[in-house]
Amino acid sequence: MSLSALVTGRIATFAGDAGYGWVEAIGIRDATVAAAGTRAEVESLAGPGTRTIHLEPEQVAFPGFTDAHIHLVDTAIAGESIDLFQAATLDEALAMVVEAAARIPAPGWILGSGWDQRRWGTWPHADMLERVAPGRHVALRSFDLHALWASPAALAAAGIEANSPDPPGGIYRRGPDGEPDGIMFEKASEVVLQHAPPPTAEMLRRAIRAIGRSCLELGVVGAHELGTLFPDTSNEMLDVYASLADGAELPIRVHAGVRADGLENAVERGLRSGSRIGEADPARLAFGWLKLFADGTLGSRTAALLEPREGTTERGLLTNPPELLRERSTTAAAAGIATTIHTIGDGAVRLGLDVLGPTAAAAIFMPRLEHVQLCHPDDRRRFADLGVAASVQPIHLREDAAGARRDWGARAESAGYTWRSLLDAGATLAFGQDAPLEPLDPWPGIALSVLRRDPTWEAEDGQFGGHEAVTLEQALRASTVGPWQTLREPLGGRLVEGSLADVVVLPSMPDEALLRDGDFASIRPRLVLMDGEVAFER
Ligand SMILES: [Zn+2]
Repeated sequence: MSLSALVTGRIATFAGDAGYGWVEAIGIRDATVAAAGTRAEVESLAGPGTRTIHLEPEQVAFPGFTDAHIHLVDTAIAGESIDLFQAATLDEALAMVVEAAARIPAPGWILGSGWDQRRWGTWPHADMLERVAPGRHVALRSFDLHALWASPAALAAAGIEANSPDPPGGIYRRGPDGEPDGIMFEKASEVVLQHAPPPTAEMLRRAIRAIGRSCLELGVVGAHELGTLFPDTSNEMLDVYASLADGAELPIRVHAGVRADGLENAVERGLRSGSRIGEADPARLAFGWLKLFADGTLGSRTAALLEPREGTTERGLLTNPPELLRERSTTAAAAGIATTIHTIGDGAVRLGLDVLGPTAAAAIFMPRLEHVQLCHPDDRRRFADLGVAASVQPIHLREDAAGARRDWGARAESAGYTWRSLLDAGATLAFGQDAPLEPLDPWPGIALSVLRRDPTWEAEDGQFGGHEAVTLEQALRASTVGPWQTLREPLGGRLVEGSLADVVVLPSMPDEALLRDGDFASIRPRLVLMDGEVAFER
């Protein structure tokens, strides 16, 4: 049978363990790459029905990108709520609340995220929301989703009163009178958010379709959904994905996972890592990981550390006890579900490796640690030795650099964001953007990982741990091959014989000058193929 499509030009296959693996041509048959090699070799397999795509001399083709850490549903919902990342000041944020209160009829909740007290130079307060939107339920997450700013009506709906004690794993900030003042941390946020009415399935389907198309425009053909940020004990989000995939309306490939609250339901449904969800084609939609949390964040100073924060005796916070992480990941492993754990501080990373190590070898997908922002040098080798993958989001360094230097001192640059050292120690490295915390575009994170500096930093900041810079090729592999390695799919994210024919055509080969300029609009894909068919064309 002859080829359905032939692509000729400068094509990176990422064959093998290193190098771009350039070829002159690939041939596509039955949605997969049937041949990769010289133009003459591959052209000899073409027939009368073969569609031919010749790249321009400047253009390059790569395998499609996969985002290994995204909250796709929440990114979709964020498109419908207040985006406080756009609020440079507290006053701008309050103006956005006024606008939303006019748009969303009461008693609907006004939801949003993206505030950062460091950006505003001051902490917000419940009374400020009452002043601009009297009586309305307002619940606004911080940029890192580890804190919440709620209005008096939202606090009342959650039964939070003057003398309410802190909930387990959470903290209410309190005014001088001891009363909760509307700012809360970690699990305290859930006490309020569980009272917010959930979005409808139709709204979610519309929003996910739109976000999926945005991904394709950026060359991202796949996503590892790390679970929604709101409670979902019956895993309704999996059904939303399944209904989209069944109707051929899911624009990208999704591996959808669950959080601890959805584990029991996932086991009851007989879901395993990699298994079909509903009737959908598992190449488009499959079950992913159980996502657990070991600690908080750098920004909220709740990352669990081996040694105290600089100038303090505080070591952060384990948001779940080790026994609970062990019990849940073991339950999941027995059901064939691999686990990934949110670990920011070096104490959490060490704990995560301890917890996942024993079940790693037998797991269907590689167990993973997410973020791995501070990793003690002694633990680097353990990723490869145990078979646990590091799923990291270089873009977080843009906001984190100053805080990491302040809180972690010399550790920040010797043991922080050590992507090069992890690769050198044999770890499987997968890049993601962590949307909606950061934008969907993979290029700013790729640039940060290669340059170890960001255009938004002051010139005197210099590089952050420049010895940890990876090559552009390593960064691209972590954006294509790496995520698939965590699925134990050796052909995934490549363009070798047997790979899915997901191809991204860029207008030119990116170089360091382009990464430094940060002008990523100039390298947006001209063409994206999925399963050998045109999924997006500019
Ligand atoms: Zn995340």
